Amino acid sequence: MALNLIMLGPPGAGKGTQAERLARGRRLPKISTGDILREAVEARTEIGRRVEAVMKRGDLVSDEVVTAIVRERLNKPDARGGFILDGFPRTVWQARALDEIMGGRDPLVIIHFSVPEAEIVRRLGTRLVCGTCGTNAPGPATDSAGDAQRCRRCGGALVQRADDQQVVVLERLKVYHRQTEPLIEYYSGRPTFREVNGARPLEQVTADLVDVVDQAYRLATSTAGGVR
Ligand code: AMP
Repeated sequence: MALNLIMLGPPGAGKGTQAERLARGRRLPKISTGDILREAVEARTEIGRRVEAVMKRGDLVSDEVVTAIVRERLNKPDARGGFILDGFPRTVWQARALDEIMGGRDPLVIIHFSVPEAEIVRRLGTRLVCGTCGTNAPGPATDSAGDAQRCRRCGGALVQRADDQQVVVLERLKVYHRQTEPLIEYYSGRPTFREVNGARPLEQVTADLVDVVDQAYRLATSTAGGVR
């Protein structure tokens, strides 16, 4: 049975980092709509040019555009054996579309990362990303010796994401509460919905995540056909 995992939670909850770790451990594709959209902006494709301003101000890209990207990606052969979606769905409209895309496939396992708002604002204010490969780095910008930190994956220089500036962070949080939080209610009745406390240290969150994913996956396997 395929592990079809989605990660919910506010920006800065650690979804991307945890998705990356789990994807490596389980050899599953990590599909991040934020990464795909940022690449499109960078490459100045038609979609990239259309979404650039929206992303810059911290708003959501249209449901139709993002859903078309995800539909195409999930139909690629490597995603047929399971996937980890990070940053999608973000609206109830997208969640309904995903249910439709998933018709006939193994059930979704849904993880919600909860993190208090003050902690999110603190994390996003110090978060850095590699300017070369895009990997997240928790900050600070310099190490204890005062030297600039480099990307742990490729050694590239670290920069702040344009939408991690404080005014944009506050806008993204507003958008999260208004548009994405309702997804918790949308999914919470499903037997494969699980919560993870994302405020704990990274390693503990990973350990909790592995536990709850395995638990939900076992449940989905034992009742396959009975849960969506
Ligand atoms: P992220 O890296 O997930 O924080 O996404 C960065 C930005 O990409 C968001 O602030 C949105 O502008 C856009 N984005 C990513 N995923 C979605 C989505 N599922 N729906 C709409 N916009 C999205």
